[in-house]
Amino acid sequence: MPNWYNLFVLPAKRKYNFVILTIHIQMENKKRLIVDMDGVMADVYQQFFKMDAEEFGRRKALEEVLGKIEKDAFKNERAYVFRKGFFREAPVMEGAVETVQLLNEKYELFIVSAAMEFPHSLPEKLEWLTEHFPFLSWQQLVFCGSKTVIKGDIMIDDHYKNLDHFTGRTILFTQPHNYGHDNKIHERVDDWKEIHRILL
Ligand SMILES: [Mg+2]
Repeated sequence: MPNWYNLFVLPAKRKYNFVILTIHIQMENKKRLIVDMDGVMADVYQQFFKMDAEEFGRRKALEEVLGKIEKDAFKNERAYVFRKGFFREAPVMEGAVETVQLLNEKYELFIVSAAMEFPHSLPEKLEWLTEHFPFLSWQQLVFCGSKTVIKGDIMIDDHYKNLDHFTGRTILFTQPHNYGHDNKIHERVDDWKEIHRILL
């Protein structure tokens, strides 16, 4: 090899390989974060309150539904979740967009929703995510049946049935149905500000 090869090309190649290796290691070290949609990203309770008020002529107070599962809190909850637009028109939880955007940089992020319970919700949920979280790629969106198959390092969810099976760190997002039910196994957060504080 000519001398200029050893002087210029080899060091450049070594530097390039080092940069590639560093990027690769950083990617591999990212923790896998699983984030739930309903009751975490999407404020489905606003839909329950609204539809219940339209039907019965009075908007319930938050205190009336605290600690009750959804079907006990709202008489026709089942009808509402099967109604067209229930998922599509759900408001975004305050602070979710900004924090998910930051989490998306730091973690290997997946949005996981047990959407198969409501098959009609699949296109609605996809449209909702595309509108409000356009920076997420389709590879990051997982619509599934049981979440017991989901593996990762951290899971944020509002239901014990999903967190109890998860083998990593578990974060319970406060929602009226889980209010006051603490099993002390999962960390509890009340809003996205708290998620920002503990994960970023
Ligand atoms: Mg949920």
